[in-house]
Amino acid sequence: MTQEKLSRLFEENGMRLTRPRLAVAELLLMDGVQRHVSAEWVAKELVSSNNSVSLASVYNTLNSFVEIGLLRQIDAGGASVVFDTNTSEHHHFLKVSTGELIDIESNDLEISNLPTPPEGSEIKGWSLIVHID
Ligand SMILES: [Zn+2]
Repeated sequence: MTQEKLSRLFEENGMRLTRPRLAVAELLLMDGVQRHVSAEWVAKELVSSNNSVSLASVYNTLNSFVEIGLLRQIDAGGASVVFDTNTSEHHHFLKVSTGELIDIESNDLEISNLPTPPEGSEIKGWSLIVHID
């Protein structure tokens, strides 16, 4: 993901590529490495690279990335939300002792019977978290 591509993507979604957004993108999206990160981790990394951004601003930034499909938000049942740079459909192992998430490819999993959702609602998607230790 280049800065130019990023800038265009934000523009198309009616948003600007602000300094915090660029700093977070450089940290998470420019090197092509897949990560599961918390907002706290991102804030700490930015401080150590002299890009001091408040935690609230980091949250807003990460949420804007989720909104335009650059990140996926995962509720792993822990205290904080995890953001995933792998936006394709996949599932996770959760290492209970450390909170670490490890990807499970969609193809490695087969579900034959999803429950019927409550009346008036429909299934929008689903993901599985397998707890391991
Ligand atoms: Zn993942």
